[in-house]
Amino acid sequence: MSELLDRPLRTAILAAADNPIVRRGVTRYGMRLGARRFVAGESIADFLPVAREANRRGFSVAATLLGESIRDAAQARGVTDEYCRLLEALAQEELDANVAFKLTHVGLDIGPDLALENASRIAAQAQTTNNTVRLDMEQSSYIDATLRIYRALQERYGCAGFVLQSYLYRSESDLRAMLPSAPNVRIVKGAYLEPASLAFPHKRDVDENYVKLAELALSHEGYTAIATHDAAIVSRIEEFAAACGLPKRGRFEFQTLYGIAEPLARGLVERGYRVRLSVPYGAFWFPYLMRRLAERPANVGFFLKNAFAPR
Ligand SMILES: Cc1cc2nc3c(=O)[nH]c(=O)nc-3n(C[C@H](O)[C@H](O)[C@H](O)COP(=O)(O)OP(=O)(O)OC[C@H]3O[C@@H](n4cnc5c(N)ncnc54)[C@H](O)[C@@H]3O)c2cc1C
Repeated sequence: MSELLDRPLRTAILAAADNPIVRRGVTRYGMRLGARRFVAGESIADFLPVAREANRRGFSVAATLLGESIRDAAQARGVTDEYCRLLEALAQEELDANVAFKLTHVGLDIGPDLALENASRIAAQAQTTNNTVRLDMEQSSYIDATLRIYRALQERYGCAGFVLQSYLYRSESDLRAMLPSAPNVRIVKGAYLEPASLAFPHKRDVDENYVKLAELALSHEGYTAIATHDAAIVSRIEEFAAACGLPKRGRFEFQTLYGIAEPLARGLVERGYRVRLSVPYGAFWFPYLMRRLAERPANVGFFLKNAFAPR
């Protein structure tokens, strides 16, 4: 679909997501309509078999409990407890899986101190089970707080990673500022609507900046997660890593979202790369689903077609 048509559709889907009637309907019927293609279910018990199967097929996993923008401190502590239980379950089941979470899910909208306290509890649990955690990146207004909390966790626990979005002009300087500390960074294009004053409005610039950021990170010490379904970018990174003599495992990995671009991900595993599937679960899957539909309006057709599929 052309970029000209794509942006209004994307905006319309994200606007529809704010409509309470759409939200109620999709939340009630969404699992039936096809949300399961993108979401592992609603509980840890639903998530574990999906992760086990992904490991069996050669994928590492990043587990995410869906949800964001919590404004109640007790709820934010509840989410933190769930992440600690999840990390325990991953260790008990000896799964090749870490966790990634949003700071607004553990209290950033209430205050940075609460978010740091809760994120520290999750990172401490990850450290005791020899695991790692990654802070997802949200809207641009959260970046400074997120990077500050990443630095604090990394200093204290040494098992944290963060994310930079190539649609933002500022990401290159954020990356350069982190490079001396050999960061663990995931590069993504960016999933939120940001104004042209902050983000490249044209896809080709977002894509070029993606490659620039990824190559910059790969040229320095640290660990880089190349999180994209863009086959052209994946090829360019494979070529770059080979030209730099980087081993296929150890310095970087590819990441994709559960249910998206599976042939691309499988091909990478077959070629010997580490590929991590980001597998979300949880009752609050609505905004996540809407972002996946907005990224590729063709998914709306897939989603609606399921309403009429025989079962
Ligand atoms: C592991 C992972 C973690 C992420 N974490 C964050 C984060 O912390 N913060 C953040 O802002 N964003 C995050 N994202 C989302 C990201 O920013 C993009 O919105 C998303 O990945 C789509 O961009 P793309 O790189 O796949 O490229 P695009 O140019 O959007 O897509 C390239 C191709 O991939 C396929 N594709 C892309 N999306 C879909 C889809 N939904 N359904 C079907 N096919 C699709 C299509 O074939 C498309 O042509 C994450 C993405 C991944 C893979």
